[in-house]
Amino acid sequence: MRHVHHFIAGKHVSGSDPRTGDIFDPGTGQVQAQVCMGTPAELDQAVKAALAAQPEWAETNPQRRARVMFRFKELLEANMDELAVLLSSEHGKVIADSKGDIQRGLEVIEFACGIPHLLKGEYSQGAGPGIDIYAMRQPLGVVAGITPFNFPAMIPMWMFGIALACGNAFILKPSEKDPSVPVRLAELMLEAGAPEGILNVVQGDKAVVDAILTHDDIRAVSFVGSSDIAHYVYSTGTANAKRVQAMGGAKNHGIILPDADMDQVVADIAGAAFGSAGERCMALPVAVPVGAETADIFVERMRAEIDKLNIGVATDPDAHFGPVVTSAHRQRIENYIDMGVKEGAELVVDGRGATLQGHEDGFFIGPSMFDRVTPDMQSYKDEIFGPVLQVVRADSLEEAARLPSEHQYGNGVALFTRNGLAAREFATKVNVGMVGINVPIPVPVAYHTFGGWKRSAFGDINQHGVEGIRFYTKTKTVTQRWPSGDVQDQSFVIPTMG
Ligand code: NAD
Repeated sequence: MRHVHHFIAGKHVSGSDPRTGDIFDPGTGQVQAQVCMGTPAELDQAVKAALAAQPEWAETNPQRRARVMFRFKELLEANMDELAVLLSSEHGKVIADSKGDIQRGLEVIEFACGIPHLLKGEYSQGAGPGIDIYAMRQPLGVVAGITPFNFPAMIPMWMFGIALACGNAFILKPSEKDPSVPVRLAELMLEAGAPEGILNVVQGDKAVVDAILTHDDIRAVSFVGSSDIAHYVYSTGTANAKRVQAMGGAKNHGIILPDADMDQVVADIAGAAFGSAGERCMALPVAVPVGAETADIFVERMRAEIDKLNIGVATDPDAHFGPVVTSAHRQRIENYIDMGVKEGAELVVDGRGATLQGHEDGFFIGPSMFDRVTPDMQSYKDEIFGPVLQVVRADSLEEAARLPSEHQYGNGVALFTRNGLAAREFATKVNVGMVGINVPIPVPVAYHTFGGWKRSAFGDINQHGVEGIRFYTKTKTVTQRWPSGDVQDQSFVIPTMG
């Protein structure tokens, strides 16, 4: 049986805890490998390696660090096929989708290649008599990231891509469900020229997370995962005086106005609701048609579209989506479908109990669609994180817009319309962090920033883009005067530049 180890100071380390976790192949339902479960001892070993390597890395000029990032980008491109197969084998998403996962991370690395420009500070000449002021951005030191199963390449790269370019050393605690790609990324970063100890991977679960949150030498923690854990990480990390950004769950709405291009809407929402089996924080699991006629047309057209969807193993080029990550997760999704039925929503398409011939033990579930879902239903309030589309009917744009604005989550939202004024007003007023206008999955590109509102993110600084640079650096401001030789009078009041 294959074993996935920690990666500390450039070496695979098996660790002291005999505990291991199962890594499944979601397509067959079989255990394909075991992952080590880390302890505070391995975490401390990684922190020590990071502390030893970081000062010299921080002193390496940013252009040289950018060259390492550039070589890493080239290695990602050269290894794209191998990485995508490995990713799909543990996650279950189709190969093309895994390539998208890697590509979106790679784009953050491309952004990080501009680090010499991004780290340029501020300067004020002659702020007072003979006084100049300059501000610089310095790395924090050792920082850590804790990542979810659903984007095992992109989300680690959101974090370490920026952190390393800024001159920090990084400790990654990936999801225990698909930990192999994160280790390959760390190997490739070493091959690209990052010194040993600059990017470490410590495998495990809550025990390692808690050790990260309480370790005195870790300055900042970035987390992405479900909201209750995000809140726990945020409150524990900040109580231990760390800078924390913690992204949580989501329930994104797609509002359809009567003037929208219905062909495009149906194609877009099918991809956004069911792609990657709905296991995306920017999936679109709630459709809100405005007006009874729009709703009737949408539900009929979507039912026909769903009929054309193929589920399949990740390597099947004709599959629209693959299995979900574990059998426990499939059970959770099916429980939510049961709940929706009990709550009185109309189950138009039922994906429960779907199997794939020859892969009967795989964690497959078919696409489902509910109509006439109402905001008081628990199955609407919670994140399901599966291939389940819920249709909530609304009578006006105002009523429709209140749904995402008042929902506990505020990650993404989309509006489908041809009306520019309505779209502009909606984008300005909606209480959600990322908005798509005729764009179903509005994940911002790497040089913008990613972050939701409300229970979709705790902390104030977004992922990547200029906010990523802010998150992984601290500002130092120098006020300087070069003495002329004349002794200045004593002053007992606060200096002013007047
Ligand atoms: P998860 O919260 O179960 O796990 C995330 C990380 O937290 C993992 O590394 C896991 O090992 C760790 N963890 C799990 N339980 C813990 C505990 N009790 N204490 C401390 N750490 C713990 O999330 P997941 O199932 O891996 O990922 C899916 C979730 O992530 C969904 O809710 C999805 O919406 C969310 N997500 C959010 C974003 C975003 O940017 N907002 C992006 C991707 C995924």
